[in-house]
Amino acid sequence: LADVVGADGVVTDGDELAHFGSDRCRGGWPVDPAMIVFARSASHVQGVVRACAAHGVAIVPSGGRTGLSGAATATQGEVVLSLQRMGRVLDIDEVARTLRCEAGTIVQTVQETAASVGLLYPVAFAAQGSAVVGGTIATNAGGLRVVRYGHTRDWVMGLSVVLASGELVELGGQLFKNNTGYDLRQLFIGSEGTLGVIVEATLRLCEPPRGTVSALCAVPDDSTVLAVFTRARRHGLTLQAFECFDRRCLEHVQEHRGRERIGPFSAPSPQHALIEVEVTGYGPDAEDHARDELTTCLASAQDAGEITDAVIAATRQQSVQLWSLREDITESLHRYTPFKSDVALPLARVTAFLEAFRARVAEALPDIETVVFGHVGDGNLHLNILRPEAMELDEFVRRCAGFADEMYAMVRAHGGSISAEHGIGLLKRPYLHYSRSPEEIAMMRAVKRAIDPDGLFNPGKIFEP
Ligand SMILES: Cc1cc2nc3c(=O)[nH]c(=O)nc-3n(C[C@H](O)[C@H](O)[C@H](O)COP(=O)(O)OP(=O)(O)OC[C@H]3O[C@@H](n4cnc5c(N)ncnc54)[C@H](O)[C@@H]3O)c2cc1C
Repeated sequence: LADVVGADGVVTDGDELAHFGSDRCRGGWPVDPAMIVFARSASHVQGVVRACAAHGVAIVPSGGRTGLSGAATATQGEVVLSLQRMGRVLDIDEVARTLRCEAGTIVQTVQETAASVGLLYPVAFAAQGSAVVGGTIATNAGGLRVVRYGHTRDWVMGLSVVLASGELVELGGQLFKNNTGYDLRQLFIGSEGTLGVIVEATLRLCEPPRGTVSALCAVPDDSTVLAVFTRARRHGLTLQAFECFDRRCLEHVQEHRGRERIGPFSAPSPQHALIEVEVTGYGPDAEDHARDELTTCLASAQDAGEITDAVIAATRQQSVQLWSLREDITESLHRYTPFKSDVALPLARVTAFLEAFRARVAEALPDIETVVFGHVGDGNLHLNILRPEAMELDEFVRRCAGFADEMYAMVRAHGGSISAEHGIGLLKRPYLHYSRSPEEIAMMRAVKRAIDPDGLFNPGKIFEP
């Protein structure tokens, strides 16, 4: 491998083994890579794949390692193949509105490069400063603007992929239309590194909005959040984000910030809706007009009892402050080593699910706090069960694991998915059957066997090898 990538591209011992051997998810499994190999080009990747295949050593493709399901973690002596040194933007086509880059390019770099020519790469999420294009494609990352722009899947036009044979194949490319049989590119999107190594991508870009206006609303209960969502859409607002977080989320953020009075409302509210709308009109008054429309909409929501209070950001800085209340939740919960779930529900079932979930968790885990936030406009909820400070981690994990089956069964009963965005990896592998039928899992296994017959890539992720 050192012959392929150079001696400085191979790490076989020291702290870097554990550092590069794992993503952000710690699920109790060992972190045990044989070595870390850093590729600098597609031909390096081909050489590494051929060498590993020849020696029967499995490969864990690795990007920014911000994944939250253990899918980029090596647990059984695999070679971790990092693409972090393949971070170049190769081409930007302003006519076609596409950007071609290496798979190790940081998502924020893509966003900034697009912005430098007045275009937008709209996939946005809190880890965008570390996550890379290959990783976001392999996980089909969603994020804050899915309600408006969809997932990563919707923005990938073409991929270059190294297969288990070491061959480099092009899947899609510059064509907007190409109906010529199976869309193999889509198979690799969301494949969690189990089918091959993505080395290059062509991404779509779009026109950025002329501006955005944000508002935070105090909502009286869980069941009313979607009434506000429905009203905002009915009003004709172009929603770029529609997030929710409950009272305890806000209080944890306050505690984390040292209990300064950051809550924008005089009284605590059981639920919150954070709304961002796009400025769609033209001219110097366009932003004021968007703000007026949002104000009118929220006033009618208040009249209908759907919200009890609202703050509409008057400046960019105020908008950032409102958003920080949502974005700081994850960090403020970190010290509780939360047991996180990232579930999706049909919009029509979100409220019923939440009601059932809150009732059942209060019975099953009465001494444990649960907080809920999420991209509720997409039916995506992040359920966080928090470890009480006095409880040992082992006991906490055991009790949560005991509850997980019941929780995912509840998700299934409401027509939902056990993973909205973060993927299956190792973390949710035991629960895949709650969202996929035996026939579907058999088809997925058949695809894996057809493309990676010897199980070279990321064995044990998504399903048992
Ligand atoms: C604070 C925080 C917030 C987050 N918010 C969101 C969010 O809002 N929405 C969301 O969807 N996710 C979110 N995530 C999860 C995570 O950021 C995404 O899953 C992201 O897409 C992972 O990208 P990465 O480069 O870090 O991939 P990694 O973690 O390195 O890898 C993820 C998977 O992709 C595979 N992979 C990596 N590179 C390649 C490649 N070149 N070829 C083939 N397979 C490859 C790996 O094997 C692994 O299976 C968040 C994470 C954090 C820490």
